[in-house]
Amino acid sequence: MAALFGQTLPQLTEHLAHLGEKPYRARQLWEALYRQRVQSLDEVTTFPAALRSRLAESDTVGLPQIIQSATSVDGTERYLMQMADGETVETVWMPDGNGVEAAEEDPPSVVAADQRHVRTHSLRKPVDPRNQGALAEKGYHRATICVSSQVGCAVNCQFCLTAKLGIRRNLTAGEIAGQVAAVLSRHRIHIGKDRINLVFMGMGEPFLNYDAFMDAVRLLVEGMNLPESRMTVSTSGIEPAIRRFAQEAVRPRLALSLNASNDTVREAVMPITKKWKIADLLAALQTLPLGKRDWITFEYVLLGGINDQPEHAAEVLALLRGITSKVNLIVWNPGPGIAYTQPLPEDVDRFQKALIAGGIPTYIRRPRGRDIYAACGQLKRTVESVPAVPALVTLTA
Ligand code: SAH
Ligand code: SF4
Repeated sequence: MAALFGQTLPQLTEHLAHLGEKPYRARQLWEALYRQRVQSLDEVTTFPAALRSRLAESDTVGLPQIIQSATSVDGTERYLMQMADGETVETVWMPDGNGVEAAEEDPPSVVAADQRHVRTHSLRKPVDPRNQGALAEKGYHRATICVSSQVGCAVNCQFCLTAKLGIRRNLTAGEIAGQVAAVLSRHRIHIGKDRINLVFMGMGEPFLNYDAFMDAVRLLVEGMNLPESRMTVSTSGIEPAIRRFAQEAVRPRLALSLNASNDTVREAVMPITKKWKIADLLAALQTLPLGKRDWITFEYVLLGGINDQPEHAAEVLALLRGITSKVNLIVWNPGPGIAYTQPLPEDVDRFQKALIAGGIPTYIRRPRGRDIYAACGQLKRTVESVPAVPALVTLTA
């Protein structure tokens, strides 16, 4: 069976031409797959029944299936998504009600200089009740979906649980965009009414699966109507891919996982630094065309005693001088078998204050869904604990 979800309009046109169908049928199928987000071919009601059943002989919609879910006390939901070959990845849904979380889509300049690290609800436009979607009805004003790009990861960052899996395989464009479609449908989200952010920060290194990742972005933007300005891709720093990314016409926002203030520390926590030094990465980032209201996000996982001291903050300030940047500090989330410690709260506070004093908008990322192992760097647990898959199908909501 071939998956239709993931195919572009030209690919669908060619596919249907083989069945003797005209191009307008491909357009209808494309609309059904990406705008309507059908789950099965039966729902493609613009097609005559005979064509639907003929298509069903060789093709399926082929969305990843949510075979297990866990809900956190903070509303975060983590899903185990199964692909056609049985491989699984995790996808996370994070609804937001109060707006204090660092928004990926807001430029740092909207926040008053003296309280740059705090965002308040009053900065947001009130929601028009006539325009409410499924999210607002539940009291949320936006949600963020954290999407995986690979099964496992090859990068081997020492603090990350996903690294322990190793790399099993790349996801296809349809499997990457399909995670989003599956989650949106589960929550009956209406694009245009509900405010949805995407972060490609789940399992895997998106820039080591570059072509499929960018194809997925185009499906999400052109097919599903999600604006790329509300998408952020995080990379551990694959220098040639950053340079390629800078040339793209349609491009999400970029975040670099800096995670250390010099190459020695970075190499210890992120061995990939042997290949590309911080200076190489910053030079590649400078090729990114930035609009007036644009910035580059740097993520910085704070590891107790390793990269969280005042001298490290001073080095970060020196590195980022001259780059329009925003820093997201992430308090390291512990995981079994990883021998780091969390930073002291006063060190986190001091680090943030030092960067803000140096003129860089700096936010502390609130950990989401830590109780269900859905927080950054914790995506792996279910994969390990899941027994034979068929038994779990009953858990699907
Ligand atoms: N592979 C990409 C995207 C996925 S990781 C990347 O590394 O950027 C997303 C973010 O989670 C990265 O910034 C990474 O540094 C961070 N991260 C990984 N493990 C973590 C952990 N245990 N605690 C907190 N953040 C972690
Ligand atoms: Fe891979 Fe990102 Fe984890 Fe590093 S932090 S191992 S790049 S998923």
